[in-house]
Amino acid sequence: MAPGGSSYQDIGDSHNAYADYGIAPENAEPKSSPFRKSTAVNIIGGNHGTRSNTAVHELLECPICMNLMYPPIHQCPNGHTLCLKCKTKVHVCPICRHELGNIRCLALEKIAESLELPCRYQIFGCQDIFAYHSRLRHEQNCRFRPYNCPYAGSECTVTGDIQSLVAHLKNDHKVDMHDGCTFNHRYVKANPQDVENATWMLTVFNCFGHQFCLHFEAFNVGVAPVYMAFLRFMGDDDDAKKFSYSLEVGGFGRKLIWQGVPRSIRDSHKTVRDSLDGLLIQRSMALFFSGGDRKELKLKVAGRIWREPL
Ligand SMILES: [Zn+2]
Ligand SMILES: [Zn+2]
Ligand SMILES: [Zn+2]
Ligand SMILES: [Zn+2]
Repeated sequence: MAPGGSSYQDIGDSHNAYADYGIAPENAEPKSSPFRKSTAVNIIGGNHGTRSNTAVHELLECPICMNLMYPPIHQCPNGHTLCLKCKTKVHVCPICRHELGNIRCLALEKIAESLELPCRYQIFGCQDIFAYHSRLRHEQNCRFRPYNCPYAGSECTVTGDIQSLVAHLKNDHKVDMHDGCTFNHRYVKANPQDVENATWMLTVFNCFGHQFCLHFEAFNVGVAPVYMAFLRFMGDDDDAKKFSYSLEVGGFGRKLIWQGVPRSIRDSHKTVRDSLDGLLIQRSMALFFSGGDRKELKLKVAGRIWREPL
């Protein structure tokens, strides 16, 4: 059960590691309007007039956030349009500085509703095309939409595909990366009474051609301080469910064992934590496992990840 014992290459389909996530560029959030890349529209949807629609698409681009405007579309008394989100943030027209008021632009709304558009994550590989209402619904669950950075304990706003997030975790958060599906991880903390300011710890495991985030944290359930270890899967929920994991912690003849299913990083770290879907260790038990004088937390968490039979 040595950590990192099995190498990445040993595992059958590791060359497919990122195949599920499409070809995604470095940058996470699509900054430009999706319509500029209209090739896929013509091939997949057989839509006509995509090129002549470019002017319409530009009309529908919010001048502030550059996103596509959906009804309700607002305008200033001089006719400058902007999206609802931006309208709630500014009080004067960004172009003529006139006070905005509450004027809708119904003509543009009609045009917006009439268009069939590619998913905004087309640049990440989504090839679906939608009428605008269903497009919004789809985009909320599009499997090509970027993931949020899984690092907890900081307000990191980085998003991207799995491959770029793995690089980001390594380079920017200095997260430990391990190859292998079994691990023995030691958590040492000098001042275990300090639950409020507990450092969040994250380790990433490469295994079965995927990445799994092992979180370890301290927080209060009600007034009771607890430690919790849980695994998140760097990918979608459908794939996360194909795996199981176990965690063990113990000492002095006692042992706690948890078996669970890794949660997709689509579920925020806080959501998973608050659902207590992981190995929970009461602080008094954690200190018992640590031995010594209860002044230091010294936990050895052993774990294993495996693939459930299809
Ligand atoms: Zn806007
Ligand atoms: Zn204006
Ligand atoms: Zn999509
Ligand atoms: Zn981050």
